[in-house]
Amino acid sequence: MNCEEIEALKHAYADRELDLVRTTEIEHHLSDCRACSQAYENIRALSSALKSSDLYFKAPAHLRRRIRASLPNEARSSSSQPFGWCLQPHSLGLLPMNALPRKSLPIMCGH
Ligand SMILES: [Zn+2]
Repeated sequence: MNCEEIEALKHAYADRELDLVRTTEIEHHLSDCRACSQAYENIRALSSALKSSDLYFKAPAHLRRRIRASLPNEARSSSSQPFGWCLQPHSLGLLPMNALPRKSLPIMCGH
């Protein structure tokens, strides 16, 4: 895997969305490439800062019930928290989308 491929996949990797083969390939590259390793550490630092700030909150139970009720049946039963990714401030309209760096959005939507 080269640096361009890492660039394209680093957010998915940070969000643990990749399969074992790609994860292993990326880890191997990160252990050998200082630039990509630093870029990945920046993603982790940003993600950590966003999770620990006041920007992150748990949606009230009534909102979660309304969202769950609006989902098709298969989406409701696919996971214990099928829409945890969308309970972020920006997806609820509480934070302007342009308030975040564009590349940080996959981090926010991954969990
Ligand atoms: Zn690299």
